[in-house]
Amino acid sequence: MDIFQKSFTQQEPIPASGISRAVEVMLSGRLHRYNTIAEEPSETAMLEEAFANYLGTKYCLACASGGYALSTALRAFGVRQGEPVLTNAFTLSPVPGAIATSGGQAILVETTENLVMDLADLERKLLATSARLVLISHMRGHLIDMDALCAVLARHGASLIEDCAHTMGASWDGKPSGTFGIAACFSTQTYKHINSGEGGLLVSNEPALMAKAILLSGSYMLYERHTKGPAAQTYADLRFTTPNCSGRMDDLRAAILIPQLAELDERVQRWNARYQALAAELESASGLYLPARPAKERFVGSSLQFLIRGIRDQQASAFVARCKNQGVELKWFGAPEPQGYTSTHFSWKYLDAQTLPQTDQVLHELFDLRIPLTFTLEDCRLIGRIIRQAIEAITDQ
Ligand SMILES: *Cc1c(COP(=O)(O)O)cnc(C)c1O
Repeated sequence: MDIFQKSFTQQEPIPASGISRAVEVMLSGRLHRYNTIAEEPSETAMLEEAFANYLGTKYCLACASGGYALSTALRAFGVRQGEPVLTNAFTLSPVPGAIATSGGQAILVETTENLVMDLADLERKLLATSARLVLISHMRGHLIDMDALCAVLARHGASLIEDCAHTMGASWDGKPSGTFGIAACFSTQTYKHINSGEGGLLVSNEPALMAKAILLSGSYMLYERHTKGPAAQTYADLRFTTPNCSGRMDDLRAAILIPQLAELDERVQRWNARYQALAAELESASGLYLPARPAKERFVGSSLQFLIRGIRDQQASAFVARCKNQGVELKWFGAPEPQGYTSTHFSWKYLDAQTLPQTDQVLHELFDLRIPLTFTLEDCRLIGRIIRQAIEAITDQ
């Protein structure tokens, strides 16, 4: 019997240049982003420069986490108490959590079998709620047809904020994910595409939104140190009316992220080679559906999802258990109890209960696995074989 031995949560080490830079920061004792000498730029400001340049956005703010970046973007947009904010039903809990933090009311939009927001349902809910804002979560790196999405939003006069936790390095028709709305949020938490343990990046081209976000993040009256922030006069009144909700990034984390950002495009290629190796093994499994990847989508294959059509509860549990016995860790989104990092809208009871039959059907058939870069191509082929054999075994029963 094939047994896979490696851990699904083991990332690569921090690049040597990041480690030596981090040691320099620690030796200096100046870890806080505003604890700089004379005109010396902080590591955090340099990271913001590098990331804004990478995406081609005007402004960037580094903060404590991806979830913090999301709630800050929503607050800076001006979400009002109880205001409806439309978002994906298929996402991770920090997304509805950020909406709750901002005072908004999350209204969940149905999911297609290709794991993107259902545009027909979005349009229905835009009409029903008159929402001003859609927070789209590019969950597990699946990009919706961004042209079609932007056309729907334009028709209804709604604004867009993107959750790019899984699309750092991805693009739609050559345009980077995170540049389609008024703001976008990224995570640098350990399991994302660059790793500082915890961390987030918020980008925007809107001066007032970014000034507010910088003040919210806890810039005190030092906001002019943000070289990737708007001009000083943008803060003139905002600085007295915007609460300080401390959530800055520190220079230690920024120091280890800068060299990782320089490697990002190469990482994307390595992830995609692994994704393709795994997908090639799975394609021939009967009853298995791999979500379609449109030609305009350049995705980052840092995880893989598949559906098993018509699978019953017991079969799904048996399938996950069989894979686990052979060292392959799968998440099943149809499980009745939330597990580890995985939960569904049924577990977000701070929201009003929502009826999402189409999403529930998709989640019931949906399995998910991580692809850390510590896996080789051969590892991915082995994982694919184990999954394929497990499907054959359970569907024979
Ligand atoms: C990880 C994640 C976030 C938030 O990131 P944190 O940095 O952990 O707060 C947001 N959305 C999705 C889809 C994520 O996976």
